[in-house]
Amino acid sequence: MRLYNTMSKRKEEFIPLEEGKVRMYVCGPTVYNFIHIGNARPMIVFDTVRRYFEYKGYDVNYVSNFTDVDDKIIKRAIEEGVSSEEISKRYIAECKKDMEGMNVKPATTHPLATEEISGMISMIRTLMEKGYAYEKNGTVYFRTRQFQDYGKLSHKNLDDLRSGERSLLVTGEDEKEDPLDFVLWKPKKEGEPFWESPWSEGRPGWHIECSEMSKKYLGDQIDIHAGGEDLVFPHHENEIAQSEAANGKEFAKYWLHNAFLNIDNRKMSKSLGNFRTVREISEQYDLQVLRFFMLGAHYRSPLNFSAELMEASKNGLERIVNAAENLKFLMKNAEEGMTEEEEKAFSRTDEFVKAFEEAMEDDFNTADAVAAVFDLVKFCNTNTDEKSSRGYLERLLDVLKKLTDVLGIIVEKEEELLDAEIEKLIEERQAARKAKNFARADEIRGELLGKGIILEDTREGVKWKRA
Ligand code: AMP
Ligand code: ZN
Repeated sequence: MRLYNTMSKRKEEFIPLEEGKVRMYVCGPTVYNFIHIGNARPMIVFDTVRRYFEYKGYDVNYVSNFTDVDDKIIKRAIEEGVSSEEISKRYIAECKKDMEGMNVKPATTHPLATEEISGMISMIRTLMEKGYAYEKNGTVYFRTRQFQDYGKLSHKNLDDLRSGERSLLVTGEDEKEDPLDFVLWKPKKEGEPFWESPWSEGRPGWHIECSEMSKKYLGDQIDIHAGGEDLVFPHHENEIAQSEAANGKEFAKYWLHNAFLNIDNRKMSKSLGNFRTVREISEQYDLQVLRFFMLGAHYRSPLNFSAELMEASKNGLERIVNAAENLKFLMKNAEEGMTEEEEKAFSRTDEFVKAFEEAMEDDFNTADAVAAVFDLVKFCNTNTDEKSSRGYLERLLDVLKKLTDVLGIIVEKEEELLDAEIEKLIEERQAARKAKNFARADEIRGELLGKGIILEDTREGVKWKRA
């Protein structure tokens, strides 16, 4: 298996640190709002990477954090007049619902930054003891120049960085020894959440979170560290500096970065007003369509989101699901006893499996892997009929499911909920809300969403529709 390593700028053979195991860390979202479809890209592509490793028989320890303390969360909390914790808890729950809709597996561990502060403090202490960090007026900085390899991931050298140093100076940080130094711990401002530390009541910097959580849940050295390409510098560069300085070992062997998702060929941003949340998309499409859309491109290629491409993905996905439905339909009246001819025909599917695996082995080329699935679909459609045996049909369906499962695409629709069952759950949700059991009410909403039922609370009562 070959994967492109941002560190070496080339594809490298994957050799795990420990045989049969993969230790993988993926930087997660900052939870101050619903996740947008750009955030969904790393979730989907690295979930697919994980699934492929599992398909190959690896035991994957997959860690992805939630950044639940941050300026944006604090700002949102002030705007709403609630605590930061309320904001982050709310959007972690919402994010998990979206992940479920996109069939992104829960991580082995989803650590929360706020629950790992003591580990971060001890890591900062180690860095100070080793001369890699210093304190000024309650703020602790990393002494960037002290770390010889700084810039090795983003391929920047310190002198180039220095020439752009003015932009590195953040207000209030003019006491730094060097403009390249970055914050490990900062004192609280009035009204902000804070934790006790040897230096001040305050909170950790963003980069130290990931260094500490990766160390705690995966160890000093990991196989793969991943995230969107905007994280290469400074976030991942700083993580490397902190982790390698503190632990004295190479941090991650392979660095994987997904390219950005744009909308209608423009960068997605709040100021352009073309910002789309996953939740908004779920009102129009099954989130499986969004997942399938993301996998239609290689993860290192920029991807453009548009209505036409989503329609095309919807049709493509339907073709795959229909092929599976058709096999199941034929199975109903099929007889036992696979013929020799069927044996022979079935062996031809090896070719599609091989093409699929070759694509995935080549730096997770999901676009080509999807093409192999379409070839298999075509084969299934043209090489089966009412006379096909049950065994033959079952084996075809198994192959189809094996491959689509790697992509996280569900081909077997769950039994659809009947209208009456939906109404019953809605009634139960209303009762739960009345009893102020909002957790249960939310759970029901999530359960329905997972089955493609969208609820809308209106003045006339609750309305629902199928996605
Ligand atoms: P954030 O919450 O901004 O830290 O982002 C969480 C993850 O989403 C990071 O891995 C980002 O690199 C990634 N990300 C943010 N915006 C986009 C985008 N437009 N396209 C692809 N990935 C993105
Ligand atoms: Zn991170």
